Amino acid sequence: STDRPVVTRFAPSPTGYLHIGGARTALFNWLYARGRGGRFLLRIEDTDRARSTPEATAAILKGLAWLGLDHDGEVVSQFEGAARHAEVVNELLAKGQAYKCFSTQEEIEAFREAARAEGRSTLFRSPWRDADPATHPDAPYVIRLRTAEDGETVINDEVQGRVAIRNDQLDDMILLRSDGTPVYMLAVVVDDHDMGVTHVIRGDDHLNNAARQMGIYTAMGWPLPVYAHIPLIHGPDGKKLSKRHGALGVDEYQKIGYPAAGMRNYLARLGWSHGDDEFFTDEQAMEWFDLGGIGKAPARLDFKKLDHVCGQH
Ligand code: GLU
Repeated sequence: STDRPVVTRFAPSPTGYLHIGGARTALFNWLYARGRGGRFLLRIEDTDRARSTPEATAAILKGLAWLGLDHDGEVVSQFEGAARHAEVVNELLAKGQAYKCFSTQEEIEAFREAARAEGRSTLFRSPWRDADPATHPDAPYVIRLRTAEDGETVINDEVQGRVAIRNDQLDDMILLRSDGTPVYMLAVVVDDHDMGVTHVIRGDDHLNNAARQMGIYTAMGWPLPVYAHIPLIHGPDGKKLSKRHGALGVDEYQKIGYPAAGMRNYLARLGWSHGDDEFFTDEQAMEWFDLGGIGKAPARLDFKKLDHVCGQH
């Protein structure tokens, strides 16, 4: 899949302002695409209707625009693709790669309790997996992916290296809920495929999702993207970054007058190393940026250094 023209994307969930971690993810994707004559796309993952707000989408777009991270093409709304997502599930169903599961929540709980009592794996195994459709009741159902039972799923991650997950540790994930709405995990795969995304560069909190997402690519016979899961940013004390460490919203830096070029310079260095240069231009960053230079250990946000770098721009 590396011989295709490079397409990267930033896919934020619109639940708040653009924070420094998201900005760095966007920057890495932007640098990677821009340095290779590729395309950098933007998708708003607004399928969670309770948590997504138009204000957050506006704030994210504003933050990206201020940072100068221009995207190609239209902004894609994931929610608006729901019909297409359901269409892919039906395709999987028709191919026998997915099946209707009529198990109720009570039955699933009972299965787990029995498994627990007998010391077996509590991973739900649906009795409908191999059922004859002629025996299907007229009742609500979900659609599940038929996951391989043996072997392993191997993620050859550009940052994390080889990550193997045993397939018997993955259950047959739900693709379509009983109300007919597609799950988030499926939407990501369908959108990335349809948008022609070749490189998925994102936070390593999504590493486990990659194994499940690969199952969907494989079932559809689609080419896999290159994966690069970046360690999340930590605070100066090495702990998970939080508000108590200092300002995390990109807009807060804009308000105090930090230059966007300084922010880009500093953020490029957050978890990615190349030579010793402290200051560099966007052109240099685009030329130098590579996935191999991203560290496996979480980078620490250093507010003094950020201030210093911004002061030089
Ligand atoms: N919407 C996800 C997030 O904001 C990103 C998913 C992805 O990059 O695949 O964490």
